[in-house]
Parts: sequence; structure tokens; C-alpha cells
Amino acid sequence: MIEIDRVSKVFGSGPTAFTALDDVSATIGRSEFFTLLGPSGCGKTTLLRAIAGFHPPTSGQIRLDGDDLSTKPPFERPVNTVFQSYALFPHMTVAQNVAFGLQMLKRPRAEIDRTVAEMLALVQMTAMADRRTSEISGGQQQRVALARALAPRPKVLLLDEPLSALDFKLRKEMQIELKRLQHETGITFIFVTHDQEEALTMSDRIAVMNAGKILQIGAPRDIYDHPAERFVADFIGDTNFFEGTLGDGGMVDLGNGTTIQACLPAAGHVAKGAVTLAVRPEHARLTSETDSIGLKGVLDNIVYFGTDTHYHLKLPAGEHFIVRRQNHPDLQGMYEVGQTLGIVFEANVAQILRD
Ligand code: ATP
Repeated sequence: MIEIDRVSKVFGSGPTAFTALDDVSATIGRSEFFTLLGPSGCGKTTLLRAIAGFHPPTSGQIRLDGDDLSTKPPFERPVNTVFQSYALFPHMTVAQNVAFGLQMLKRPRAEIDRTVAEMLALVQMTAMADRRTSEISGGQQQRVALARALAPRPKVLLLDEPLSALDFKLRKEMQIELKRLQHETGITFIFVTHDQEEALTMSDRIAVMNAGKILQIGAPRDIYDHPAERFVADFIGDTNFFEGTLGDGGMVDLGNGTTIQACLPAAGHVAKGAVTLAVRPEHARLTSETDSIGLKGVLDNIVYFGTDTHYHLKLPAGEHFIVRRQNHPDLQGMYEVGQTLGIVFEANVAQILRD
């Protein structure tokens, strides 16, 4: 329902011109929880502001249900934003804050009262309707900001790092709450975060951004299990990188006669020959039978984490490789620092990275 079609945004002009969005495209479905994930400065907020209408794109088009949004000023778009700072009115009560947008839209009094009551119930703030927003906690302010943004029933809600001001425990609670609200209202959420865990746990799909570009779009599991390039693999979770030689049909030769079936990226091109592969630490295991194993390393550290143990190895070319194994009495004392070990994986857990 939202089509972001080859959108670029350049700030300034001449030698100081800066490209904040570089030919970005994505299609976001109705009622989808869609997350823009990337490091600070990658263009997430700029893209959100382009959708809201605060930063018109330099080129490209944004369409909502097929209509070009560029001619519509922000207040005429069926889109609302929840900012990181909440931007509540401190001198107004909770209920007055939630009613504000509806009053601006000149909705009838009875409808406003009914909607405010509904929204406060939805965010579980009915009991605090008459408190001033300066007299409630950060988490409660967050709920009021959400209720205020949801009240006019926008088609799309844009959320710019809305949980970043909350402490860890409250943040976890609000993650679940937000997901529930999105599900109950059926409104499309476009959520900005630089927190990979938050993106993985909340989203239907994630767009991973870097330096003004979208590098990969997919469901959390796709992005985690099949990162298409090094930046994505590195930004989300822990990843090991190593080299191999790609033959036919995703078969990769690791040397010593060992060949593995690896995954080719869903989009983009990979030429046969030398390739870089990525494998998650929990998808590899170790063996002391090293004769026919192509990938070997010297164990240089064993780190115990209670539920699992991380084995740090150094590969012959000097790269580091981490294997994560769930703890089991049989594994205790099995390997020693200084030992050369083979690194083994199942078929299809190693991802070939795009050229
Ligand atoms: P963060 O997570 O830190 O908020 P972000 O991914 O949201 O980062 P943006 O705010 O979209 O990043 O900014 C992208 C880039 O565009 C940054 O390098 C920023 O300095 C630049 N930028 C943003 N707004 C302007 C502006 N009005 N004029 C010039 N450059 C800008």
C-alpha cells in the first residue's frame, strides 16, 4: 500500500551537497509492522520524514494506495508520527493531549469524547485521563503519545525510535505493548530503530539501511539466517566470515577435499571462484578429527556463559572464528586452548555474500 519508488534526498547543493537517501525503493503492505534498521546517520529519519511530508524527496515518488503523496502537505496525509521526544503538551491533561488532533480536524464533540475514551483504554491510561502529562512517568508519557497519534485513525503510523528514552525493563514491556497495539488496530507501522534485537523481535519485515541505501529487505528470520552482504551480517547478530571457492549450484570448496552446500543470496549476483561466506556461531561445531576438514583453527580462548560456551579460534589467515555451543556435561574439558580443531557445519547454514 505504500510504495517508496526510487527516492533520493540531497541536502544542500554544490560542494557541500549531502546525499542522505540514495535511490531507495520499498513496498510496505497494509497492516504491516515494517522496521527501518541501521546505524546512526544512515538515513532512517530522513526516509520517515519524506513519508510524513516534512522532507520532500529530491527525486522519486512516494505513493499511498496508488496516490502520489508529493502534492499533499503533511497535515493532509493519512499519516501520523510518534517522535522520540513524545512532544506532548505539558500544560494539558492526558485526555486533552489525546483529543488535540481530533479537535484540529474539527470532529464532533461526542465523537472526540468516545475516541479519547477508546484510545486511553487501548493504552491502559484511563485512570490517568485527568492528570497533566508533566505529572506522569516516561513510560506513561509514551503511551499517551501513542494514543494521541492513533486517535485520528491514520492509515500509517510512523514511529521514530519511540522507545529509546525508556529504561531497559520498560522498553521490553513497551515492545510487546506496541506489537499488540499494531495488531489490534491493524494500522501500518513504520518503525525506526538502530537496535537489531528490537527489530528482530517486533517486525513483520525489516529494511536494513546503511549510508543512504536499503541493503536488504526481509522477514527477521530471512535477514538473520540469510544476510546478503557483509554489512547486514555484521550489523545483525554475531557472524563469522571465511573464504571458499564457489563451484556449481552453491557448492563451496573449503580446501582439503571438503565441499559444503551453501546458500546463494536471494537477489544479486555472485560469480564463481573466490567468495566470502558468513556463518552464525551457533550454526558451527568443532571436531578434533581434523584430517579431512577444510576449515581449521587454533583454539585461543574458551568463554563460559552459563547456558552456552563460546570457543574462539584463530584461522590460518589470521581471522577470528567463534563457535557457540550449548553447555552439556559431555562438552566440559573436551577441548584445550592451543589445540587445532576442525570447524564443521550442516548444509545450507553458510551464506554466500553478494559481490
Ligand atoms: P539517527 O539514528 O542518528 O537518528 P538516522 O539514520 O535517522 O540517524 P538521518 O537523521 O536520516 O539519520 O540523517 C541521515 C544523514 O543526513 C546524516 O548524515 C545527517 O547528518 C544528514 N542530514 C539530516 N538532516 C539534514 C539536513 N537538514 N541538512 C543536512 N544534512 C542532514
